[in-house]
Amino acid sequence: MTTINIDKLKTDFPLVQDLIDLKQVTWFNPMVTTTDAGLPYVGLDLDDVKDAQARLERFAPYLMKAFPETQVTKGIIESEVVSIPTMQVALEARYHTPITGKMLLKKDSHLPISGSIKARGGIYEVLTHAEKLALEAGLLSTEDNYEILFSDKFRQFFSQYSIAVGSTGNLGMSIGIMSAKLGFSVSVHMSADARQWKKEKLRAHGVNVVEYEQDYSIAVEEGRKEAEKDPRCFFIDDENSTTLFLGYAVAGLRLKAQFAEQGAIIDNDHPLFVYLPCGVGGGPGGVAFGLKLAFGDAVHCLFAEPTHSPCMLLGVHTGLHDAVSVQEIGIDNITAADGLAVGRASGFVGRAMERLIDGYYTIDDQEMYNLISLLDQTESIKLEPSALAGMTGAVHVTQNADYLQAKSFTPAQMKNAIHLVWATGGGMVPQDEMQKYLSQAKLD
Ligand SMILES: *Cc1c(COP(=O)(O)O)cnc(C)c1O
Repeated sequence: MTTINIDKLKTDFPLVQDLIDLKQVTWFNPMVTTTDAGLPYVGLDLDDVKDAQARLERFAPYLMKAFPETQVTKGIIESEVVSIPTMQVALEARYHTPITGKMLLKKDSHLPISGSIKARGGIYEVLTHAEKLALEAGLLSTEDNYEILFSDKFRQFFSQYSIAVGSTGNLGMSIGIMSAKLGFSVSVHMSADARQWKKEKLRAHGVNVVEYEQDYSIAVEEGRKEAEKDPRCFFIDDENSTTLFLGYAVAGLRLKAQFAEQGAIIDNDHPLFVYLPCGVGGGPGGVAFGLKLAFGDAVHCLFAEPTHSPCMLLGVHTGLHDAVSVQEIGIDNITAADGLAVGRASGFVGRAMERLIDGYYTIDDQEMYNLISLLDQTESIKLEPSALAGMTGAVHVTQNADYLQAKSFTPAQMKNAIHLVWATGGGMVPQDEMQKYLSQAKLD
């Protein structure tokens, strides 16, 4: 890997100095294209997403059996969309900015099984792998009722195989819990920032948790090495997996159905803005891909990152993608936002999605803590720090006259806008941990 000339980088991209100074920054990408022009660069299409959706439907009877909490949604792992009007008023006051349109919250924080957005991609990839093994062994046909997988026969079959993954916490939770339930032997390689309670929960599920003193990239590397030694071990590659990406993308089609049910209109005159917390990029990238397929040019996605881990902003803005890390420009990659403590973005997602993501911004840890408390006070909804990163997106959009002008948004359109904050985690945070988060808030 070539070394980065920081001085040249700062000259070519003055914003890099603000990143190094850990300022909260906003960048709207002038290279964004129409949806039709941008989609071909992804290398995946609507048929791939429909295929993923169909696979999840095949597994629904199994999930209902294995995880009874999914019975209310008939084995489909999906979250609610709720409006947060009191929070909207509180945000307007806090940032002295009127937010026109309506703020909604997508509660992936409360997805069953693992309580985060990782219940989409992570679980989907494990199911895909399990299905492939069972089909190849002639034990399963896609016509079967997958309920049969919930049996000693299949647990025994899967126990001959293992799964490994590197994670800051939430991906490990999804993959660990799902793999162990199917019967796989599973190892989760966890970075230093991973929470103790997540490690304990995984161990209670029979997952082998391997701990590292280093960050996410090292945990991933070690997991990959372990898997290479064993031909029966499948490594789930958070940085490059198109399977994970497709699992996330299903959210787009499902959201379209949810809005249709609620009678919410999304079109050119009723734009949808979506604010997605970004770590390595697979989750927000996959969801944004699904949203673009579902809503086309009517949806506008922004990625949110901690000031200490702005890897995607850095990679896309400089065009270096995964050839640069935040550490190489002197940023420590230390943040309280689980899932977002990633120093080097996915090269696949950055390149695939850069034409389709309107903008990027950063938020500091203290503000995430403040917003946890504000959301709790106004809406009685409790989220983990990462999930609050999306909360300031509507303020950035509203304040950015250049962006609004470049997109030719009229006041009438903005009045009809929906601002959807993607709440990516928090539903399973133990009460005492949540209390610690809340006590970090400094609201004045
Ligand atoms: C993983 C995660 C994200 C971001 O997903 P990436 O695929 O890493 O970009 C956001 N929020 C939470 C809570 C997460 O666990």
